[in-house]
Amino acid sequence: GLVAKVAQLDASLLTTALTTSPRSVPDMGSAEMASQKVCTDHMIQAQWSEERGWEAPSLQPYGPLSLMPTSSCLHYATQCFEGMKLYRGHDGKLRLFRPQLNCKRMLMSTTRIALPGFQPEELLKLIVKLCATDGPKWLPKDRPGAFLYIRPAMIGTDFALGVQRPREALLFVMLTCFAPMDDIPGGVKLLASQDDMCRAWPGGFGYAKVGANYGPSLVAQGEAREKGFHQILWLFGDDCVITEAGASNFFVVWRAKEDGRLQVVTADLNEKIVLDGVTRRSTLELLRTRLSSTSATAIRDGLEPVEVVERKFTMLEIEEAHREGRLVEAFAAGTAWFIAPVGHIQFRGRDLQIDIGADGLGGQYTARVKTWLKNIMLGEGDGIGNEWG
Ligand code: PMP
Repeated sequence: GLVAKVAQLDASLLTTALTTSPRSVPDMGSAEMASQKVCTDHMIQAQWSEERGWEAPSLQPYGPLSLMPTSSCLHYATQCFEGMKLYRGHDGKLRLFRPQLNCKRMLMSTTRIALPGFQPEELLKLIVKLCATDGPKWLPKDRPGAFLYIRPAMIGTDFALGVQRPREALLFVMLTCFAPMDDIPGGVKLLASQDDMCRAWPGGFGYAKVGANYGPSLVAQGEAREKGFHQILWLFGDDCVITEAGASNFFVVWRAKEDGRLQVVTADLNEKIVLDGVTRRSTLELLRTRLSSTSATAIRDGLEPVEVVERKFTMLEIEEAHREGRLVEAFAAGTAWFIAPVGHIQFRGRDLQIDIGADGLGGQYTARVKTWLKNIMLGEGDGIGNEWG
């Protein structure tokens, strides 16, 4: 048969309509900035239909979308998104951190929920264009270390109400103001999930950044916050397998039971119940190159080399390590919270206290990873000129 050739997403076709009513940039430290409701002047939009493929994308004033009430995304969770940041460096430059990985992950997420494909490089070009348009104004040069949160999203806009693969979709990207991340006094407090709830399961979609993973987690999150915890440590199954901490990946530093070797451990991605975080991946790569047993950095800094392990591990193992004095550090890693030392985990009514260093900024390994990444993201110290910068 005849296969109609439909248009690909093509950033070079971008049309631009700049705002005629520019908004004002919130003051640093203002409630407005912390509200997470203030977006910059512009957004990107691109429409897709099964018939025609991708229309020319547009850069246009930020504002409401118009959707039919029967739209697929409003009923069947045909929605996915990404999260990354645009940073104002200490050297005055604006930087993204490994954005290619977010664009590829976005494609993986759209594929999981029957939304259309695209070339990740084209999405990246659109994001860069939006950042270049609004970044200079919204991240003034006198705010080194400040950032905007970048939220690309795709939704099924097909307004035929039947349950089916959407034949129309909308891609959009906006930039949101965010207050600077303060260190949490005492570290992050995590409440381990109860046996009656899990975030993801084998055969599901925990590995994809689809809205359907987040809404249903908010009951547990709300209960945790009421009890004074920051996030849920999501466990899976009868043996209490560790998956993630809220919307961050979770790491421990411990001494192995068998021989006391120092290890950094995080959940592997094999069962597809854990998100392949950009911060997670970067943490693993940096630890492997800079703190493995043969690494010059480890020797220079006088830090004990550490073995980097991705494997299935359980809350029961963490409890045992804690009891035996082998648990050294724990931290959460993700775009929103960055590298956040975990100081407390409650599991089945039992409380584990974990060392977060004398200054509360994390144990040695947590603090080291945080500095490495921050230097790359903000163009400081040994981060300048890094290929990820
Ligand atoms: N896990 C989940 C469930 C998340 O939503 C996120 C945030 N994207 C992460 C982990 C961390 O991923 P990243 O480092 O790419 O932000």
